[in-house]
Amino acid sequence: MSALSRTWKAVSSIKLHWRIMAGLVLGGLTGALGGERVAFLGDIGDVFLRALNMVIVPLIATSIVAGVAGLGSGRKLGTLGLKTMGYYLVTSTLAILTGLVLVNTIKPGVGADLGISGEVPEGIEGPISSVTDFLMRLIPQNPIGAMAEGRILPVIFFCILFGAFVAQLDPDRRRTMSQWFDSAFDVMMRLTRFVIAFAPLGVFGLIAKTTATVGFAPLKSLGIYALTVMIGLTVHFFLTLPLLHWLVARSNPFRFLKQMSPALIMAFSTASSSATLPLTMDCAKNRAGVSKGVTSFVLPLGATVNMDGTALYECVAAIFIVQVLGITLTAGEQFLVVATSLLASIGAAGIPMAGLVMIGVILTAIGVPIKYIGLIIAIDPLLDMCRTSVNVWSDSNGAAIVARSEGERLDSGS
Ligand code: ASP
Repeated sequence: MSALSRTWKAVSSIKLHWRIMAGLVLGGLTGALGGERVAFLGDIGDVFLRALNMVIVPLIATSIVAGVAGLGSGRKLGTLGLKTMGYYLVTSTLAILTGLVLVNTIKPGVGADLGISGEVPEGIEGPISSVTDFLMRLIPQNPIGAMAEGRILPVIFFCILFGAFVAQLDPDRRRTMSQWFDSAFDVMMRLTRFVIAFAPLGVFGLIAKTTATVGFAPLKSLGIYALTVMIGLTVHFFLTLPLLHWLVARSNPFRFLKQMSPALIMAFSTASSSATLPLTMDCAKNRAGVSKGVTSFVLPLGATVNMDGTALYECVAAIFIVQVLGITLTAGEQFLVVATSLLASIGAAGIPMAGLVMIGVILTAIGVPIKYIGLIIAIDPLLDMCRTSVNVWSDSNGAAIVARSEGERLDSGS
């Protein structure tokens, strides 16, 4: 084995978040020591952002069509499906509202110096003036055109409808279509993971450029932003979800937390709901005593569409970026951020840093260029681990609540 491939093997055996952290530290040092001379390294970051951009539309489209088509047809969906979807919508919305209140109170981005002052983007679409205006932004005139132009909100709208009608086909054709979209989604998840593998390099370039041009001031603002997300996630994890569990499932949420803890730790360390899914199902069934029927319906679906932590993060991150740019959002635009955060969390795949990619959905909806995602990449790995635990904890509570509503007892687990 050559020295190069040995080095490559050794590097790739280090966990992604440590590699990104190394990129952050090395980028910071390079920028601080090299000054303006190394600002050109920012180009590496720009190339990485472009690659991230590349995956957004196909990732979202395949994820949503595969997810919605997999729900089954309207009639078969039945009460179990309705209860589950109801739970997902309520908890994700509560999470977003928690984030919205916090980011508007703490205002982590107001006055922050991230080296982009005076760069207010052109093309802010302006406030939503009416319901018709909102619908016009939502419904594509031409879905392919919307995809080509990267207007994500209409793409999501079209894909939800497309998936719903795939589910209406006769069983044979439905299976063919579903299999096709499942496979395409799988391809896109692999492709995204491949792109994300270059994140350490991208972070290195972006941080080197930032510290070369504006020094370390951005770290303080990023710290306050990260703290805002963490406070929101903590409230949702320890207060909102346990309260809901206690009120609706009428059982002890903290005993359930203990039963689900292996899955939650796994979610934290892998930053992937999909990778954690087998363990989540095992804990719910064998430790908490949720039936096989509910476990196998609620949890796989939840791992792809129910992401409370991601939803909260999307809202805080997008508004943080907007605050950094010095833009004040109107009430209508804040509503658009809430609605698109929900859609973005539904469309996000259960893999590391998918939520970061999805911020593009919200930014494009309010007319802010996607390149500003670069502002928050460096801090994303830590937030990703935290939000993934919240995602899995919400799925788990969903399983418990739906199980109780179906008359199951939960105390049979250890
Ligand atoms: N990593 C998250 C998950 O797998 C998704 C995200 O990036 O927000 O649940």
